[in-house]
Order: sequence, then structure tokens, then C-alpha cells
Amino acid sequence: MSEIKTNLFINGEFSPGSTGRTFEVKEPSLNETWVHVAEASLDDVERAIQGAHKAFGEGGWGVTKPNERAGFLRGIANGIRENLEELATLESRNVGKPIGDSRWEVNAGAELFDYYAGAISIFGGEMPPVSAPGIDLTFRQPIGVVTCIVPWNFPFLMACAKVAPAIAAGNTVLLKPASYTPLSAIGLASVAQQADLPSGVLQVISGPGGTVGNAMVEHPLVGKISFTGETTTGAEIMRKAANKIARISLELGGKSPNIITQDADVAKAASTSPLAVFGNTGQDCCARSRAFVHESVLDDFVNGFIEATKKLVVGAPLDDKTEIGPLISPMQRQISCEYIKLGQEEGAKVAYGGNIPDAPDLAKGNYLIPAVLVDVQNQMRVAQEEIFGPVLCVIPYKDEAAMIREVNDCKYGLSGSIWSENLSRAIRIAKAVEGGNLSVNCNSSVFNEAPFGGFKQSGIGRERGLYALEAFTEVKNVFIAVDSDFST
Ligand code: NAP
Repeated sequence: MSEIKTNLFINGEFSPGSTGRTFEVKEPSLNETWVHVAEASLDDVERAIQGAHKAFGEGGWGVTKPNERAGFLRGIANGIRENLEELATLESRNVGKPIGDSRWEVNAGAELFDYYAGAISIFGGEMPPVSAPGIDLTFRQPIGVVTCIVPWNFPFLMACAKVAPAIAAGNTVLLKPASYTPLSAIGLASVAQQADLPSGVLQVISGPGGTVGNAMVEHPLVGKISFTGETTTGAEIMRKAANKIARISLELGGKSPNIITQDADVAKAASTSPLAVFGNTGQDCCARSRAFVHESVLDDFVNGFIEATKKLVVGAPLDDKTEIGPLISPMQRQISCEYIKLGQEEGAKVAYGGNIPDAPDLAKGNYLIPAVLVDVQNQMRVAQEEIFGPVLCVIPYKDEAAMIREVNDCKYGLSGSIWSENLSRAIRIAKAVEGGNLSVNCNSSVFNEAPFGGFKQSGIGRERGLYALEAFTEVKNVFIAVDSDFST
């Protein structure tokens, strides 16, 4: 990888697509056209799906030995590491995220390929103890052609979290990146090509979700759709998948709580929580955007949180010191600003931030100083709706049971944190919170080895760990009779 690749990756080759049409990709820190990327036509999608189908069946990918697949996955992991700086720079320029974050995410992508290279050798069927004279075996078999659709906030990491388990399990993959951020997915294709991944096992197809993405969902040869994005898009994909009973995994929106109890280490919670909501400029499905704070520690928490937020360096993505980059688009910044105004109209106060920085070197980008809203009540729209920008809502509470009811009074249930030095309290609250990924006395519980996914409208199914291999396989049951008289 040295020049930026912008073409479709179909059947092992980069090509501009049948119409030659392209769409423009910008850098959020400058808002200027950076590169033009190939836009797939429906004919290109058809060619990619037929190629993936052939690679799975005739090409034999579906029946390759686990250790052969593991070899390709390790090759991709190594290739990602060899190209880490280039991939991280692409990601930072394309998403606007700080280069330090991008380096971490690209390396985490490599670790996902390594993890599934190992995991596939221990993932298999069972021998259920059936009440019959014989041996019952279950097999885990690949689904076939699967579509993976990813959003723009963690483009490379989300792509790796889907592609690695899908191909480890023996499927062939159609990957659709978001139109804002197609470059690192095309970079992943380049790494896969260098690792000699067989033709058709990974197809990377850029183009609009409504047409290209839709065709990758509706096609009869696609047996599974693994989608990460907005809840409304997920619902539409679920309806379309229902028409052909396709398998689905959905990773959707969030409005996650950060619960600061009366016996929390408040100094630690306050000083570390800003990045749990403002990291990636708040464009994180797991953002802890509702802080439920016990009234006895409210002032200490809010003051400490604002102090730490003031120290966050808002700046250019490629500057090593930057901790908060621009939002992805002018529209995404506008949405955040409108929510801050709405919160004030609903009765909340801006205790810090929410303004556009006036530094001349940031003038062209979609920058916004992170906002802390206090005096928020849980039923306000600003506390219920996913903003996907750097806005924290602080909601004070007195009574634990009432607080838990409020935490759960939300359509989402993805993540959350609980801060308490009283472990019984922490576990009691963790068990009661409706959310798929909770952390106690820290800000994240996302690990390659552990399940990740949401309750309620935050999604269906789990990624990561062996759960992702389950999600990309079918279970087959086979009974072998050992008693010649047994024929039922
Ligand atoms: P989005 O608008 O739903 O788009 C996500 C992806 O779906 C993009 O690749 C998009 O393509 C494609 N798409 C759009 N409409 C489609 C359709 N009708 N058929 C097939 N594909 C379609 O979401 P986003 O704005 O990119 O991402 C932000 C959302 O993702 C937030 O709600 C966030 O919470 C959620 N998210 C969830 C998780 C999680 O793990 N739970 C992780 C990260 C983000 P185009 O770009 O071409 O429109």
C-alpha cells in the first residue's frame, strides 16, 4: 500500500466499476474534496455476489480446513501491522479522529484477525446426550455469502470485527463501507490481496446505502446480513431480511448511562469519564452520554468532570497531541448544536462548552467544544435521543431504585458504567441495568474475547468472542444409530 486505493475490490482485483461513476470523499478537518471513490452499479453488486457465491462453493472456501483459513487470517493481521501507519493516517484523515486513536484501532483490527485465527481451531460442535442408541453430533457450518455493512464512526475496526469472524467461519463476505468513510475498508482489501486471500472471499463494494447496500441485503444469494448503524436503518434491513428469512445481526444506536454512586471514587470517575462520552467526538454508539450522579457527590463530580474536559486537546487529526477531532460533517455538528439548544429550551443549563472554537487553524473543520448539560431530567428529549455528538447530560438522583427505573426508561440498552467502591452495590446495579455491555469502575467493557451487543433497540445478536462465530454459522444436527434394531 502506498498510493490511496479508491476502486471497488471484486474477485481479487481493483476496478473502477462498470459505469466509471465516482463520489467525493472529504476530510472533516478541512471540508474539502480529498479523493473520488468508485461508486458501484447494481451490475457490479451482482458480479460481486456471483463471485462470492462461486468462491464459497466451486472455489471451495466453504470447506477449507480451519488451519488453512487461520493462515490467511494471520497473513491479514500481519499485513495490517506492516501498513499500520498508512491505514491509521487514512482513517484519521477520513473520519477526523485523532491519530493516536486510529493507531490503536488499526492495531485492534489486526488483533481481531489474530484472535479469530486462533478461535476457529477451538470452535466446533457438541455431542448432546440424546436418549437413543447412538451418537448425536452437531456441526457448525458456514452460512455462505454474507453481507457486512459498517458505519462511519469506527470504519476499520467495525469492518475487522465482522470480516474476521465471517471468513474464519468459512463464509465469503461482501463488505459495504459508509459513503463518508470508504478508504480504510478499501485499504483492508489491499492488505487481503497482499495476503493472497483467494479471489471472491472478500469483496469491498462502495456506493450509496439506499441502492448498493439495499441490493446487498435483498439479493437471494445473501444468507446473512451483519449490520452496524442507526436503529432506523437496522429496522429497514430487518424488514427486508424477513422477506427471505435471512439471518441478521444488528448493532445499533445507544444512549448509555454513566452511574456515579455515593460511594464512587469520584475523583477517578470525574477525571476519566470525559473520554467515555467525548471520545471520537461523541460519535460512539457506547458513549456514556447520560451521567446519573448521586446528589451527595454531584458538585464534586461535575466540577472534576468539567476540569478534565477543559484539558482535552481539540485539534487537527494528524497532530499527536489531539484528543478530540472534528465531527464527521457540518450536518453532524449542526445536529449537536440543535440538541444543545433544545436541551436549554427543555430546562437544562450549559455548564461548559457547546461552542464552536474560534482558533483560526480549526475554522474550516466541523469542530465543537464538548458540552456539559446540567439540570437535565431523564424524560427530556436531549436525555432520550441519541445525539451522536459531544454532549453530556447530567441527571442527579437520590434513590437507587428510582435511578435504575430512569436508566432503563430509554429505548436503547447498549453500554454503561457503574462507579462504586461498594461491590455489592455495583453488582446489584449492573444486574438491574438493561444493557449489553457494562463496566464497573472503568469506562469500557469491549474486548475481542467477550460478547458485544445491545438490549432493546440497540440491536440483536452479539459480536466478538466465540459469539461472532456462532452468529456466522448454522447448526446442523446428525444422529448416527449404533443399534441395528433402531430405525426411528
Ligand atoms: P447509518 O446511516 O445507518 O449507515 C450505516 C451503514 O448502512 C452505511 O454503510 C450506510 O451507507 C448503510 N445504509 C444506509 N441505508 C441503507 C439501506 N437502506 N440498506 C443497506 N445499507 C444502508 O448509520 P451511520 O450514520 O453511518 O452510523 C451511526 C449510527 O451507527 C449511530 O446510530 C450509532 O449508534 C450506530 N453504531 C452502532 C454501533 C454498535 O455496535 N451498536 C457501533 C457504531 C455505530 P451510506 O453511508 O452509503 O448511507
